[in-house]
Amino acid sequence: MTDQETVHVHRRTLLMGSAGLMFLSACGGGSDGTKIVPTAKQDDGPVINEQDAGNAVTPKDVAVLVAALNAAFEGRDLDRLLELVGATTVTPGDKDLRERWAYRLDNFERNDIVSGEFFVGLPEGRARNSSGGPLEYRSNVVFGHRIRDCDSRDVVEVFDATFVKDSATAPLVIDRVSETPEGFAPAIWDVAKVDIAVTDHAVLAFRSQDRDVVRRSVTEFDAGVARAFDLMPRPAGVEKVFIAVAWDEVRDTLWGGSNLIEAQGVAYSHLYVDPAELAQGQTVAVVGDGQPVATARIAVNPSAFESGSVGDVACHEAVHALANQWGRDAPRWVVEGLARWVENQADAGAFQQQRDAIARSFPGFRRRMPRSAVEEFYTDDPDGLNYECGAAVFEHLARTEGRERVIEVASTFYGNDDADTVASVLGVDEDGLFAATQKWLRA
Ligand SMILES: [Zn+2]
Repeated sequence: MTDQETVHVHRRTLLMGSAGLMFLSACGGGSDGTKIVPTAKQDDGPVINEQDAGNAVTPKDVAVLVAALNAAFEGRDLDRLLELVGATTVTPGDKDLRERWAYRLDNFERNDIVSGEFFVGLPEGRARNSSGGPLEYRSNVVFGHRIRDCDSRDVVEVFDATFVKDSATAPLVIDRVSETPEGFAPAIWDVAKVDIAVTDHAVLAFRSQDRDVVRRSVTEFDAGVARAFDLMPRPAGVEKVFIAVAWDEVRDTLWGGSNLIEAQGVAYSHLYVDPAELAQGQTVAVVGDGQPVATARIAVNPSAFESGSVGDVACHEAVHALANQWGRDAPRWVVEGLARWVENQADAGAFQQQRDAIARSFPGFRRRMPRSAVEEFYTDDPDGLNYECGAAVFEHLARTEGRERVIEVASTFYGNDDADTVASVLGVDEDGLFAATQKWLRA
């Protein structure tokens, strides 16, 4: 017997002695009551003789494993959870996994704001050994979670894993999960003991040592996010925006970094993907079903407090988070122009003061901003007015066609990555919008 097999026997013993099955109906993570539903395809044939079937993974095997994972999560049992995902040996990756889940379970236990649930798929084709011998295959372990009042749908972390079933009567076990996936970790709740403050429009997560600075700014945070909600459509089930108060060691690096890193705040975009589908191998969001496409977690950097701009940063990043309901592929001038435009609405003079400078800068902006420009938005900005020029397009639309048109234009760009489709929906293409804005600015 190899060491590996010994480990399997050990795990099997744990599973057999588990009360985890009883948790199956008590661990629903989603507010819509999503439950674990075995999704076996009806391709096993009408009559299965157990002796002929060999060693195969069944929906029941998967359900038992998932129940054990969720029982460990709901019971905040770190050792058991690590045991179940095969991360009990000491490697650098396992150390990360242990530290992160230790923080996470403690934070979730002390702050009842996040619900979570594990999903494992029933793989097709690979999960059978007709000789009855040991079975090993790779698939996904998915952890889906929602922050209460902040998420329409599950945000998911996907762990690549090796699954093992030693014999027809043995339990299905996870031999190894991969290291924590980039893009979802570390979350703020993975790297520190955090406290939560809930306002009318925001859920704020912060370290206890930042409690005083957050307390002084809590009204400003709330008012900033409220400004975003005033102008942006509300995704289904979303009443608040999640904001992490970052510190120097983690600034710009939470949730795997981001494509929207700005000076004082970050919007970390997360695609909504159905975790049960994902566990089956689906990797792209279902778009066009009328549900929000994505969300974002926001982090506010220490510099926002130093410069007294917490409200504006919260407003701006909240617009990014709410706009993700339409998609994630809008041109950067739309993404940043919309956020700056909303931000500017609180200050009636903000646009007028810079109007002449924007008018001078705009023709260059128009040349630099083809639909493909992404990083260039931040790096190719000779006048430092790219944000304001983008906002000017929406200011023009608001003044000539109303605020509804601002939302219509922004959402159409977000929801369609094909320029012809955008032009046909809006009745004007990207350069047509630029040309009209340029003409208006010089009037
Ligand atoms: Zn921005």
